[in-house]
Amino acid sequence: VDLTQLIIDRIRDVPDYPKPGVTFKDITPLLADHAAFAAVIDAIVAHYGRGTIDKVAGVEARGFILAAPVAYHFGAGFVPVRKKGKLPSSTYAESYDLEYGSETIEVHQDAFTPGERVLIVDDVLATGGTARATAELVRRTGAQVAGLSVLMELGFLNGREKLADLDLHAMVTV
Ligand code: 5GP
Repeated sequence: VDLTQLIIDRIRDVPDYPKPGVTFKDITPLLADHAAFAAVIDAIVAHYGRGTIDKVAGVEARGFILAAPVAYHFGAGFVPVRKKGKLPSSTYAESYDLEYGSETIEVHQDAFTPGERVLIVDDVLATGGTARATAELVRRTGAQVAGLSVLMELGFLNGREKLADLDLHAMVTV
């Protein structure tokens, strides 16, 4: 079965969520399907190759679900990137603009060792603000961003333009 079709068929459009006029891409049907879930994790690992990644960073909350099995299969560590105020020890923080207001995400200052190769994993790339801030957090620790892997890129929001300096691996672009 074609991986692209497997993904497209299992990501559900939810109209008017989280607010009127927005169509939310719901990945829960994909996660609930063992074969599809396993196939996307294997495809991410295969794209970069075992031994090329030291740590996998997952972005709260859906990024955690994907990044943890990817880390396990790489033989790499997992690092959570969280919303402000959730991490217990000393953090670096990055803020970025949303359509209305702003968001702040954090990572532990000692989460990475300088020079480590870090893969960032998230479910959906929309405007690119979250991914760009995550890459900035990784770099502030002295580690390097080996790439960004997402299940789905919303091409019409042009997030890719904010990430010109990153190796972006989008399994599906709509
Ligand atoms: P961005 O910062 O690129 O605008 O938004 C991406 C972040 O918001 C990701 O962490 C992603 O999980 C979440 N996100 C934005 N839009 C959607 C969507 O339609 N579906 C899902 N599943 N997540 C989204």
